[in-house]
Amino acid sequence: MLPTVAIVGRPNVGKSTLFNRLVGKKLALVDDQPGVTRDRREGEAHLLGLDFTIIDTAGYEDEDPQSLPGRMRIQTEAAVDNCDVALFLVDARAGITPLDEEIARWLREGDAPVVLVANKAEGRASEGGVMEAFGLGLGEPIPFSAEHGQGMADLFQALLPHL
Ligand code: GDP
Ligand code: MG
Repeated sequence: MLPTVAIVGRPNVGKSTLFNRLVGKKLALVDDQPGVTRDRREGEAHLLGLDFTIIDTAGYEDEDPQSLPGRMRIQTEAAVDNCDVALFLVDARAGITPLDEEIARWLREGDAPVVLVANKAEGRASEGGVMEAFGLGLGEPIPFSAEHGQGMADLFQALLPHL
């Protein structure tokens, strides 16, 4: 059985884009419209010779924002419970939000090793967000671009010890 990596993060940070890039098929739905990923999806990921099962968690973006953190917590903890590594995605362009900080808290309390990925890091607009991600207390963020495929070697290096 392959090791399992769960992608977690608030809506719209690029989880499904990363999933698609690693699985190499359009299995996860990505759209500019928030709320496109409705289901948890699993695929077989390949990253520079590493093979693992990857889980893309849904966003619930289309539902009542008041209850979003509670539902995200249940979903995040369920995904992370059965994984070898949690891949925590933040949006380096948007910067760190209160929901990112909340997710970071759940992950710090959990048992799964966390790899922190600062996505959308192509170009200079992301430099401040990458710095902010350091403040989450989950180690050094990996500057990454799921859309452009940047940071793959660094992601490989970060996952390797856990898989
Ligand atoms: P999810 O809700 O976390 O699954 O996010 P999606 O994968 O659906 O992506 C949300 C939006 O961010 C889409 O418009 C993507 O095209 C965009 N996006 C994803 N990755 C990147 C990236 O590396 N750079 C930029 N600039 N945009 C990205
Ligand atoms: Mg998605």
